[in-house]
Amino acid sequence: MNIILFGPPGVGKGTQAVLLKDKFKLLHISTGEALRGEVARGTELGKKAKAIMDSGKLVSDDIVAGIVANAMQNVGDRKGVMLDGFPRTVAQAKILDTLCAEKKIRIDHVVSLEAEKELILKRLSGRRFCDKCGKDYNIYFNPPKVEGECDACEGGRLTQRTDDSEATHLNRLNVYEAQTEPVKGYYAGKGLLRTVDGTGTPEEVFSEVCKILG
Ligand code: AMP
Repeated sequence: MNIILFGPPGVGKGTQAVLLKDKFKLLHISTGEALRGEVARGTELGKKAKAIMDSGKLVSDDIVAGIVANAMQNVGDRKGVMLDGFPRTVAQAKILDTLCAEKKIRIDHVVSLEAEKELILKRLSGRRFCDKCGKDYNIYFNPPKVEGECDACEGGRLTQRTDDSEATHLNRLNVYEAQTEPVKGYYAGKGLLRTVDGTGTPEEVFSEVCKILG
């Protein structure tokens, strides 16, 4: 089974992706994670991408398509791929069609997580992660036991992503509406789009997604 996890930044795709990849034995391909890895390693690509990411804009279709094409080679013994954060433009969706045709794979479902803008902004601004073990928190919805400190590891401090600022959030949501929302229509036209209310708890949302994936 190959799926696309779709939805605005902050809707909870990352949280669902972790649950789904384990349950359905999928290779999780997150273009955002891959790009943050490039930035952290200080690669040429990472240097180019950082300023664009910090401003909330999209990096070029070629760059992300290259990341996905490479990652797709690592399916190994998993049962398929789960794309998270890709495609984000109709042009990327068309590139993905070509990649899938080349690799003889088919996208089975496009699961779109949906939530109101106000809730998304709160989720984005509350988002923190541990600088040591990477565990995710949200200071409004899923706070640590002690403010600023990781529950899961000794000495881990909670920090924000460098693209987690108010201005960037608004920009990312505007970019989503202008460039990414149209991708939904693209997949609706192919009969692949499934929408899920993303406002419940992670467990509730997961249960709804599982109903779709069977
Ligand atoms: P994410 O973690 O998916 O929210 O992605 C973080 C940032 O990486 C985005 O705001 C973009 O700047 C960049 N990015 C991730 N995926 C893509 C994509 N498919 N196309 C263009 N830019 C992307």
